[in-house]
Amino acid sequence: MPLNRKKSRELFKKAKRLIPGGVNSPVRAFRAVGGTPLFISSAKGSRIYDVDGNEFIDYVLSWGPMILGHSHPKIINAIKKAAEKGTSYGAPTPLEVELAGMIRKAYPSMEILRMVNSGTEATMSAIRAARGFTGRDRIIKFEGCYHGHADGLLVKAGSGAATFGVPTSPGVPRDYARNTITLPFNDLQAFKKVCEKLGKNIACVILEPVVGNSGCILPRPGFLEGIRKLTRKYGMVLIFDEVMTGFRVSYGGAQKAFRIKPDMTCLGKVIGGGLPVGVYGGKKEIMRNIAPDGPVYQAGTLSGNPIAMTAGIETLKILSKPETYKKLIAKSEALEEALKDASKRAGIKTRFYRAGTMFCTYFTDREIFNFTDAANTDTAAFSKFFRKMLEKGINLAPSAFEAGFMSLAHSQADINKTARAAYESFKEIK
Ligand SMILES: *Cc1c(COP(=O)(O)O)cnc(C)c1O
Repeated sequence: MPLNRKKSRELFKKAKRLIPGGVNSPVRAFRAVGGTPLFISSAKGSRIYDVDGNEFIDYVLSWGPMILGHSHPKIINAIKKAAEKGTSYGAPTPLEVELAGMIRKAYPSMEILRMVNSGTEATMSAIRAARGFTGRDRIIKFEGCYHGHADGLLVKAGSGAATFGVPTSPGVPRDYARNTITLPFNDLQAFKKVCEKLGKNIACVILEPVVGNSGCILPRPGFLEGIRKLTRKYGMVLIFDEVMTGFRVSYGGAQKAFRIKPDMTCLGKVIGGGLPVGVYGGKKEIMRNIAPDGPVYQAGTLSGNPIAMTAGIETLKILSKPETYKKLIAKSEALEEALKDASKRAGIKTRFYRAGTMFCTYFTDREIFNFTDAANTDTAAFSKFFRKMLEKGINLAPSAFEAGFMSLAHSQADINKTARAAYESFKEIK
């Protein structure tokens, strides 16, 4: 049965006259899957509610941050209390020291770290720090990895093993994009070749250790290890962009799960408990260059915002309890089994990948190792599946290239309902 979207439609019409595409972040516009985006009125636990009164089990979770579920009472209460003390001071607070300590404990590679307001700011600032530290301009990224919308990171590869960057977005100067080299993920040989040719000119390598922005692509055994070895050899700074994988793959992120120590790490999403927070940090000798300790400038009027810090601290307090990840992983495993079983029974060929609490179903019978593999899956089938699931009360990310997320609030009943909806949806699109 089609959803009633009367109010969402009206709001979308109004929004489109005021805001580009009617949205404040492009993928929210549902362009990849068709139809009108849902305008949300509230969310609680595993559920999200739109302005027309429809209820959905939510696997988008604000694109990752809401790992405890929406409107967790402890977080909401803490935010209320913090707000009563003032919303921003533009001065140091005990809160930011506390959160920084909690982060360093979970990510010992982040010896010194700084709070910013988004993942984009974190990666942008980390790259500036790496360039300042090495005195080199060029950077390497991997196709299909998203690191926010800073100039020079909006670059994709053309064909060939090592392509000098062409801007993906107008407005990014060619001269700037030229400093970005893009390589295929999971291809250590291509990486090695570039190192041999240009290693001494490259400031840093930035990557998502598990690629959550092309679905959920796992590193092949040896890939991250190889990169770690070669970056050390050529004096390049290795930056793990754990904005998505941080506190998602495990409490200590992908670096803990895969036992790789990067030189720098970027965090975001979960760390803000639903408020805007990003963090970058790493080795002392790199971070000592950041102003006011050193000459590499980076600042923020609202950085370390007391309400955002409070939400982050309270979120980590719950996440750091030993039983929390056991529960989260058990729920994620149950969903994995249920979805795999549903597609098998419906006779639909899918590949399911999961890293801790993030996952993706690809419509293909082939394995996924990089962006090209992901792009070659049946994205039209995904779009149909997405719409069928939404009609059945399941909110998935509106793109075949986005990861899904599990929260502590999802129940076995939610998982069972999701599995039934998935089975029927698979059947209907067959
Ligand atoms: C979401 C994301 C970003 C950007 O974070 P924003 O808060 O949206 O600026 C950067 N890197 C990765 C890996 C992300 O998933």
